[in-house]
Amino acid sequence: MLCHNITEESGILHFAGYDTAVLAEKYGTPVYLMDEKRIRENCKTFNTAFSRYFHTPVKALYASKACCIKALYPIIKEEGLGIDVVSCGEIHTALCAGFPLQDAFFHSNNKTDLDIAYAMENGIGTFVVDSKEEADAIQSQAEKLEKRQNILLRITPGIDPHTYEEVNTGMVDSKFGTAIETGQADELVSHVLSLPHIHLLGFHCHVGSQVFDEDVLEKATQVMLGFISHIRKKYHYEAEVLDIGGGFGVRYSEKDPIVDLDARIHSIADVFYSTCEKLQIPCPKLYMEPGRSIVADAGMTLYTVGSIKRIPGYRNYVSIDGGMSDNPRYALYRSAYTCLPARKMKEERNMVAHLVGRCCESGDIIQPDVPLPSSIQRGDVIAVCTTGAYNFSMASHYNMLPVPPVVLLSESEDRLIVKRESLDELIQNQL
Ligand SMILES: *Cc1c(COP(=O)(O)O)cnc(C)c1O
Repeated sequence: MLCHNITEESGILHFAGYDTAVLAEKYGTPVYLMDEKRIRENCKTFNTAFSRYFHTPVKALYASKACCIKALYPIIKEEGLGIDVVSCGEIHTALCAGFPLQDAFFHSNNKTDLDIAYAMENGIGTFVVDSKEEADAIQSQAEKLEKRQNILLRITPGIDPHTYEEVNTGMVDSKFGTAIETGQADELVSHVLSLPHIHLLGFHCHVGSQVFDEDVLEKATQVMLGFISHIRKKYHYEAEVLDIGGGFGVRYSEKDPIVDLDARIHSIADVFYSTCEKLQIPCPKLYMEPGRSIVADAGMTLYTVGSIKRIPGYRNYVSIDGGMSDNPRYALYRSAYTCLPARKMKEERNMVAHLVGRCCESGDIIQPDVPLPSSIQRGDVIAVCTTGAYNFSMASHYNMLPVPPVVLLSESEDRLIVKRESLDELIQNQL
């Protein structure tokens, strides 16, 4: 089986030990499910590997944007992770959940003056600064508040997460960060070091998401340590922190490779220590920012089948009661998903159909060419696996569809952590 948290009992799909047919009945569909145990296991995979392979400080920061829900923050906190956030909305969510903001890193390529003031007034630990304009805006706000603000600089190491060997400039052309290659990163460091209300803690990079190629993060670590060494010689500035971002790939379908996170972290540690030694620099504190790899495989979405269209000589379409409004990832990136007939697991899957949503777009496809039992009919439940990351957080109100509820499944109980939006709530801000 693709996921370790699914089983099949008498033809019924069970997720995290729960009967999905019962959950669909109890909460209605569409509904997002989150497996608490799996979130904790994923956090522990990082922490266990850290204690195995690192002998200097290293910490994981959960990338909130993958799934930003109040009830998840106590779990993240208990597992000992920090967080990254990208907006006042994410900061507010974490704050309301009681997450200590000194353990938060504030990303984004364009923080407004309001964002900067809000984050600083609420005691954000570290800004990850993307540009000179932003450094200057943080300097003025920190001056107003008479404080010295910790920052990292986001640097573009010039690594293409898929073809880095051939082209090193791919990622230089990016709206994120400041490039080493063009000399702009160097200039920005020099500028930031002159700002009295800013304390430069070190450097950050993030090479991409859903990275499967081994050694991309290793390569990024090397390039960034090289930059740290260069800056150290040039400005006599010692970086305390290196944050290499997230992007660990997750398995969505049988075609995706199996990712051995422990092995990946092991090899990052090897490269980290050998490079520090080679460059003869002190090891900075290392951060990683996993988002997807913490929550993706802890999630599942349940839908109910509506219409079934068999177009002879063409294709079959099975429509469900959600769509790109709750999962835009196929429409956006052609992402793979594994889709299962939750109540007909034992039946032969002898029909192939496009699993489509109810939105008014031909591109509203959850997944093309899904094998399903030919007995599939209105009222059947379809489960889409691995929807814990970038589904709820990317949901929209397109076609005025309410955002589905989220149910947290723990060993002792199933608990609603986001309630279904009502029709009135959909229009509550419309005057
Ligand atoms: C999106 C993002 C992450 C998390 O990426 P995943 O692929 O979900 O692990 C981490 N850091 C930054 C800066 C990001 O933009």
